[in-house]
Amino acid sequence: MEKQPLYEGKAKRIFATNNEDEVLVYYKDDATAFNGEKKGTILNKGILNNRISSFFFKLLSEQGIPNHFVSMPSDREMLVKSLKILLVEVVVRNIAAGSLAKRIGWEEGRKMPCTVVEMYYKNDDLGDPLINDYHIKALGLATAEQVAKMEEYALKINTILTNYLKEKDLELIDFKLEFGLHKGEVMLGDEISPDTCRFWDSKTGEKLDKDRFRRNLGNVEEAYKEVLLRLTGEVL
Ligand code: UDP
Repeated sequence: MEKQPLYEGKAKRIFATNNEDEVLVYYKDDATAFNGEKKGTILNKGILNNRISSFFFKLLSEQGIPNHFVSMPSDREMLVKSLKILLVEVVVRNIAAGSLAKRIGWEEGRKMPCTVVEMYYKNDDLGDPLINDYHIKALGLATAEQVAKMEEYALKINTILTNYLKEKDLELIDFKLEFGLHKGEVMLGDEISPDTCRFWDSKTGEKLDKDRFRRNLGNVEEAYKEVLLRLTGEVL
């Protein structure tokens, strides 16, 4: 049966399924950075991110974090619960890097004295600007209860992932989450992968994430493979 395409994003395609509560996500190798200005492909990224994200979603399910993961029917496909995505990107930061380091004038790698949670308006035309609770309310992006839930889940996810990754000699610097509504409930969606997180090797400080692509550091595929290997023991 021909799959019915619903939507194509920068790194994934979404298809309808026979079950109206679920959609199929297809992970591509396409990579973009700087709001689509830099384009490329990372060989096997779709497979690596599908496997890494599936692993994280299962771990979070075990720890009581509601998320969209249902199953991984193939190497590039993830079956997920259909969500009405909230147009808010939630970023959690443990160590200053990327846009935060620039904004507040801190050198990359400086530990934040406390965990920092930020909200961005998910809007490509505007380049995903930083927003606060008032903007979210004024724009009608989410209710105060939904914002509180996203923040609560984001902080819990940070604790779960930070502790898990530490055992694998990976430092969780920062990451981005997207949430949606499923039957009215706030639920984690999108992906958790080296595309959406910064992972640094705890011993060497080596970057094992999309910054290798953004900053032309080389060995991009190798870095993603190393993350999969450390998390699951799988070699691709
Ligand atoms: N991030 C993301 N998608 C975005 C912007 C950021 O997944 O559109 C992730 C990014 O990989 C990093 C964290 O969110 O782990 C914080 O990114 P930052 O604000 O520093 O932006 P960047 O430096 O990536 O432009």
